[in-house]
Amino acid sequence: MLKGKVAIITGSTSGIGLGVARKLAAAGADVVLNGFGDTAEIEAVRSGIETEFGVKARYSGADMTKPDQIKAMVDETAAALGAVDILINNAGIQHTAPVTDFPAERWDSIIAINLSAVFHGIQAALPHMQAKGWGRIINIASVHGLVASVNKAAYVAAKHGVIGLTKVVALENAESAITCNAICPGWVLTPLVQKQIDALAAREGISEVEAKVKLLSEKQPSKQFTTPDELGDLAVFLSSAAAANIKGAALTVDGGWTAQ
Ligand code: NAD
Repeated sequence: MLKGKVAIITGSTSGIGLGVARKLAAAGADVVLNGFGDTAEIEAVRSGIETEFGVKARYSGADMTKPDQIKAMVDETAAALGAVDILINNAGIQHTAPVTDFPAERWDSIIAINLSAVFHGIQAALPHMQAKGWGRIINIASVHGLVASVNKAAYVAAKHGVIGLTKVVALENAESAITCNAICPGWVLTPLVQKQIDALAAREGISEVEAKVKLLSEKQPSKQFTTPDELGDLAVFLSSAAAANIKGAALTVDGGWTAQ
């Protein structure tokens, strides 16, 4: 379905980004992986995607806190693979603390990676999409782009910002075949959430399994984690012709979290 398309997925060495990259590749897109991690492991994932899906896969180590590196990643992709058709803004970090204790440098890095990098990526990618007259921008926001939780000031502020930015970009390109939408997952079992499960287990003196159940029970009525594969399938759908008129949407995949 996406044969001949080129997709950049930020923060795709782990978790949701990797799940989305694999689904886009399975649908035929060439992909650019990005993110941090062990060099040999990243290379194994990159070459594995090429072998498994018969597509081209590249890797960019661009740091999402650095606007010049984001632009270089986008322009190098266009030069090497001929286009930037799909941009998945996914890289993200978390830190939890009450506002009064929230370290200012954590605020700055969360805003930089979770919000400003989305702007810089879109600004760099849009000219390539506009030149071709086609594009898909998918921002991995969160339920925390729609509702808040305690102790997540920077994350909630950044994700609400991402949803606002998504709407602006959708409107600015509304008459073209370029769409911009946000996906808002609830709990997904990735390293980002595993840290919160471990902290909950340690704080309350409960097992990891009990901490998982507690985490889900508090917010997610389905009591099931959303999976990276499910989010990848949604990204493939949003990249398809069937989704051409979905513009500026914030699509929840949250087991009922925001329906309550
Ligand atoms: P993760 O920790 O598994 O993966 C994060 C990825 O971002 C990794 O590849 C990491 O290397 C990369 N990254 C971090 N800092 C970077 C930087 N400065 N430059 C480049 N890459 C960087 O996390 P995840 O849970 O897969 O989260 C991915 C996205 O999904 C985030 O935006 C997160 O906010 C969002 N999200 C996650 C959940 C969840 O429950 N896990 C829920 C809603 C939204």
